[in-house]
Amino acid sequence: MPERSWNFSAGPATLPLPVLERTRKDLLALPGAGASVLEISHRSSAFDAVIQEAEANLRELLAVPDTYHVLFLQGGASLQFSMVPLNLLGDGTAEYVVSGSWAKKALAEASKVGATRVVWDGAETSYTTVPDLGALDLDPSAAYLHVTSNETIQGVQLPAGFEPASGARLVCDASSDFLSRPTAVERYSLMYAGAQKNAGPAGLTVALLREDLLERVPDGLPTMLDYRTYAETGSLYNTPPVFAIYVLMLVTRWLRDEVGGLAAMHDRNRAKAAVLYEAIDASEGFYRGHAAPEARSLMNVTWRLPSEDLERAFVEEAGDRGLLELKGHRSVGGIRASIYNAMPVEGVLALRAFMDDFRARGS
Ligand SMILES: *Cc1c(COP(=O)(O)O)cnc(C)c1O
Repeated sequence: MPERSWNFSAGPATLPLPVLERTRKDLLALPGAGASVLEISHRSSAFDAVIQEAEANLRELLAVPDTYHVLFLQGGASLQFSMVPLNLLGDGTAEYVVSGSWAKKALAEASKVGATRVVWDGAETSYTTVPDLGALDLDPSAAYLHVTSNETIQGVQLPAGFEPASGARLVCDASSDFLSRPTAVERYSLMYAGAQKNAGPAGLTVALLREDLLERVPDGLPTMLDYRTYAETGSLYNTPPVFAIYVLMLVTRWLRDEVGGLAAMHDRNRAKAAVLYEAIDASEGFYRGHAAPEARSLMNVTWRLPSEDLERAFVEEAGDRGLLELKGHRSVGGIRASIYNAMPVEGVLALRAFMDDFRARGS
């Protein structure tokens, strides 16, 4: 087998090795099906077992209440930027927390559909901080409040337990920290996440939607943009991304059986992030973290070096040592290490060793 490097890609991102091995083992024939998961009908009993387990695993891991639908959607998290307002905004106003690049995109799409109001914008601090939602001046009659729990590009994250207890209107883009920590789903109207950061391969978006929201959906939406289409058909109105759902089933099985659930995952994620933030803090200013310490993401660690030349050298030398995809997003620059659930602590320690070595040589 070709050697695997440590892959710090922001997405599509590294997957758990046992999941890839299982996928390979069963690729030619799903046990009992006599054909590959790539070849069977989405209406076959073999695929029915896959999508049922995928949903059941998500419900178990996140303790999703029975009053929520689990929807398997396409079009990426980006399509949700439009589907959310198309389905939920109506004649009302939607409130948006603009915490970084993804929130900005979500706001821009909603503004094409209806009335929006920005309740917090991190632009003044270059999106290095996140708000305390409890301290914001919110309108309880707004159609919904949209937040981005983790800003993948800037590397800022809302803290665990950020949801207001009365967050009945909360809509969250959780693409890059979905399943990374325990989450009080009952505090959300809707949570959505593209799978390719933490939950599986590209092509699949998961949404957890409280069922009473469907009453708000206006008639006349294109069928494929209407949440009711997915809720009423078990996400089988048309052909769903069967392979991505299969891999998500394996990832959620891995999280439950091998990791031990989301609290254990959260512990691992905190420990991994601490290794890199310690390297930044101990570097006497050689590495400068982008996020304010209280807003630091456990998923995407972002930092700068003293010059762009050093940043280029860092990324290049890291690549030579099998530490891949460390270049920061072009809008922020610098370095970004994405250390999602599936990145083992060994990968983070290898990066830490390289950081310390590079600094010793470069500063
Ligand atoms: C990656 C990402 C998106 C966009 O996802 P696509 O599936 O490419 O549309 C949206 N929001 C966040 C927070 C992301 O990390």
